[in-house]
Amino acid sequence: MSAQTVLVVEDEPRIAAIAADYLRHAGYVVAIVSDGAAALEKAGTLKPDLVVLDLRLPIVDGIDVARTLRATSSVPIIMVTARAEEADRLLGLEVGADDYLTKPFSPRELVARVKAVLRRTAGDKRAGARLRLGDLVLDTERLTISRGGTAIDLTPTEFRLVAALARQPGRIFTRAQLLDAVRRDEGESFDRAIDAHVKNVRRKLEADTRDPRYILTVYGVGYKAAEP
Ligand code: CA
Repeated sequence: MSAQTVLVVEDEPRIAAIAADYLRHAGYVVAIVSDGAAALEKAGTLKPDLVVLDLRLPIVDGIDVARTLRATSSVPIIMVTARAEEADRLLGLEVGADDYLTKPFSPRELVARVKAVLRRTAGDKRAGARLRLGDLVLDTERLTISRGGTAIDLTPTEFRLVAALARQPGRIFTRAQLLDAVRRDEGESFDRAIDAHVKNVRRKLEADTRDPRYILTVYGVGYKAAEP
């Protein structure tokens, strides 16, 4: 397999250099750009396998970079924010970033996240028929969920909601993203809030709906599947 390419978008040269060093050492081909306009240009020509994106950038803001990238490609994005910028982080997830790191971060942590996101997205591409979420087994062809061999009856929409979460354990989804995931699969328009679906799903899957094991609420943002 040829080396994977990571585009680092960072306007602080010292941070960019350290990140690039560690990523190269881990076997990735690395390109660095220092502003948002250059990031969009480079992403277009380089077609990187992953983008590490500082959200506070000159010329074109990181959020706009993420939004533009997301409109045209599914390249995984790890965004980097300062600790104080929680609003940025939420906005970044909203526009489709796959993961985030908070500054100051250790370069080892960065490499670990890059590996994890690439593994996860590669898993998506060759997504088999079976997904696991804790002791649940999701069959994405039959749209069934079972636990210990016993089938649990979900509606197709409920199934798609759980499957979207379970494909990327630990990734936080906003309600809007979940709505998209459910609609995209189905082409179905429905106006029930995602919260209502989650509530129904929990009633069917969880032993205690107030202390869920499978689908966790991220307050103020959305939901995520529990990590193994
Ligand atoms: Ca910056």
